[in-house]
Amino acid sequence: MKILVLNCGSSSLKYQLIDMETENVLAKGLCERIGIEGSRLKHQPAGKEAVIFDDYQENHSVSVKMVLDALTNPEYGVVKSMKEINAVGHRVVHGGEYFANSVIITPEVIEAIEKCCDLAPLHNPANLIGIHACEEIMPGVPQVAVFDTAFHQTMPERAYMYALPYEYYEKYKVRRYGFHGTSHRFVSEEAAKMMDRPYDQTKTITCHLGNGGSVCAVRNGKSIDTTMGFTPLEGLVMGTRAGDVDVAAVTYIMKKENLTVDEMDNILNKKSGVLGISGVSSDFRDIEEAAEHGNDRAETALDVFAYKVAKRIGAYAAAMNGVDAIVFTAGLGENSGTTRRAICDYLGFLGVHIDSYNNSLRGKALEISATDSRVRVFVIPTNEELVIARDTKELLDK
Ligand code: ADP
Repeated sequence: MKILVLNCGSSSLKYQLIDMETENVLAKGLCERIGIEGSRLKHQPAGKEAVIFDDYQENHSVSVKMVLDALTNPEYGVVKSMKEINAVGHRVVHGGEYFANSVIITPEVIEAIEKCCDLAPLHNPANLIGIHACEEIMPGVPQVAVFDTAFHQTMPERAYMYALPYEYYEKYKVRRYGFHGTSHRFVSEEAAKMMDRPYDQTKTITCHLGNGGSVCAVRNGKSIDTTMGFTPLEGLVMGTRAGDVDVAAVTYIMKKENLTVDEMDNILNKKSGVLGISGVSSDFRDIEEAAEHGNDRAETALDVFAYKVAKRIGAYAAAMNGVDAIVFTAGLGENSGTTRRAICDYLGFLGVHIDSYNNSLRGKALEISATDSRVRVFVIPTNEELVIARDTKELLDK
């Protein structure tokens, strides 16, 4: 069985074609600037040079068609015809309270995803465009939706309720949802395998640290709390997002600077985080370099970042009444030994000890805790596309 995994943004489309017999990626690629001058498709067949197609992509339907052409192209393709693609798995950002699992897409499912557009106005409409484009170009091929929020639907009320007037939860569904669910699920399952323990009897804290970041408490295979909330703005300090802030500081700045709601929203999402504190960059590599060269604000940004992650790990160890494993994943979590060390240095009270040599390695799943560590610590590369493909296959097999 071959499954096409799609992740549609408002002007982009990422794809992977995965052979489910081997779980190998046959080809992957990215369409950029859809509907904008200068569109391009970068297609990467496994083990071969990438090819660039720069025909104009007027909309997502055109892009899906180009991707299928590339996948079936006699020279750069990896399948003979579209008929070899058995299903499409879509990443959908927000499933609201409707979806606690992945589902086969039906008209009812589309209606529910539409209802969640208000909650993720930048993402869900783009995800829907991708779904409709596939319905048009690949009629009859089953499609599955895998939601970023679904894994966190097991959070108890005490973790998802905000202390706001209850009517806003009832009227507008204002509550904590959490994101990166596919990643937290994947790496927590992998950690249980690496410990040779049953997933449903393990307490794991997963740290997805990329441009956006979140920490999740996974108890017995279920998310019981996570740092992102109603939107991906809550929680950790991120590349450009502020994370937790006293809301009164926000209204204070708005008054002082005469800012509109949209202007303040832009500051909190795009100009804050480690970029805001350091003034250097949103990329942790640049900030680490600046800090090494004595930039005080860069150093402060890294300090604030690591301290906040460590505090959440402590909080989640309390929430689960213990922790067996801590997992680091995503761009920063997988690649920055310095950041992992800075976070773990706070966790002596849990008996966390890091092995310096293993912590310096990269590129594969490995344990970085020392043999005397009371909590095991892992670095596990995340693979959201594989989870989407596996869920799609599982639903089709049923
Ligand atoms: P996204 O949230 O966009 O998916 P990624 O998971 O790809 O983000 O993570 C991207 C971030 O990872 C980059 O902004 C960078 O800060 C960080 N990163 C990647 N490699 C390194 C590295 N070697 N050292 C430090 N930070 C890194």
